[in-house]
Amino acid sequence: MNNFEEYCTKFVQSVGNKEGAISPVITGSAAFAYGDAQTAEGIFDGSVKKPLYSRMGNPTTARLESILAEMDGGVGAVATSSGMGATTLATMSLLSNGDEIISIGGLFGGTYSLFNETLKRFGITTHFFDVDELAEIKNAISDKTKIIFLESVGNPNMRLPNIKAIANIANEAGVALVVDNTITPLSISPLRLGADIVVYSTTKIISGNASALGGCAVFRAINDGDDKFKGERYSFLHKFIKGTKKMALIPNAKKRALRDFGMSANATASYQTLLGLETLPLRLPRIVQSVETIAKALDKAGLNINHPCLESHPHHERYKSDFSNGCGTLLTIDMGSTQAAYKFINSTKLATITANIGDSRTLALHMASTIYSDFDAATRKFLGITDGLIRISIGLENPQDIIADFINAAK
Ligand SMILES: *Cc1c(COP(=O)(O)O)cnc(C)c1O
Repeated sequence: MNNFEEYCTKFVQSVGNKEGAISPVITGSAAFAYGDAQTAEGIFDGSVKKPLYSRMGNPTTARLESILAEMDGGVGAVATSSGMGATTLATMSLLSNGDEIISIGGLFGGTYSLFNETLKRFGITTHFFDVDELAEIKNAISDKTKIIFLESVGNPNMRLPNIKAIANIANEAGVALVVDNTITPLSISPLRLGADIVVYSTTKIISGNASALGGCAVFRAINDGDDKFKGERYSFLHKFIKGTKKMALIPNAKKRALRDFGMSANATASYQTLLGLETLPLRLPRIVQSVETIAKALDKAGLNINHPCLESHPHHERYKSDFSNGCGTLLTIDMGSTQAAYKFINSTKLATITANIGDSRTLALHMASTIYSDFDAATRKFLGITDGLIRISIGLENPQDIIADFINAAK
């Protein structure tokens, strides 16, 4: 668990102030006064580093962005109003009409409908693959491919990608790799494995208590020498690379997405997210350990559990080698039928019934009748949504209490 220990000091020290108010200050202002005309000009051309307008950036949000950028080894980050805002920002800043996305694993319901329905309306085509279809993925890359999109852990199918192998494919082909790391902050560092952009829903384990909706995209630096973003595929980036060098992905995202779509974070949510972030390195290892204890105990008790810590899981070896800091807070239980799933959900006393994940409290939800109720049978099958599937997000409760409650609910 060294990954977590490393951040205990870093997070509490960077969130709190050493002088005056210890808790971060919430800058509630939407607009900022420039003082004089020359300063206004400088702020707009980027030569003066002062706040322009809160849609384009806010001091409280900037604090959160700098910590998340550092956490992931990025050159910078852009916080957003939600996790979907971060995915929209990252993708819409790289895509034009006629482009293609290759989407691997997962997939979170909102991301699936963004790709398969909404972006389709704007002339963007997405090809979907399972995490292990590496040859098919390679084959699907064309001149029109601008993004390979990957979830670090399949939600809710619990399949684990070989992130390094997929990053190698993306880098060889010169295509941007965007990783949704919502489920595994600190546990997995996608930029260090070769990805270009990481997106988060900070609503989940980063805040940890359902107090604030939020998201963030973290960007890698553009290399001094060769870089895939200097190629023809990304010619729209070249002016930013010329002007802002290694930072180029950030002004591109701010101008092409944040300014025009307006999925900006608000200062109060950024403040609440900072408070959550402070204790992330303590909460996550505790939960990851509980998830293993609970998955193994429920499996032993005869429940149909899907989690890669179990030897029967097809990615058990990958879990041990590549996910040594765990794979987040989720596990699923397949009760076999809708009726049995409803009975379980209505009998558990500890789990809160909700669509959220990564909370301090244990959460449960029947998948087919809620998040995936809009999807046809073939799509549900692709995403691993069976009739009896319940997604569980384990919280900070005593794992033995959760085991006892779940065994009782399954009777
Ligand atoms: C929740 C979630 C999102 C979307 O985040 P919101 O903050 O709800 O917009 C995206 N990806 C994953 C994996 C999620 O769990």
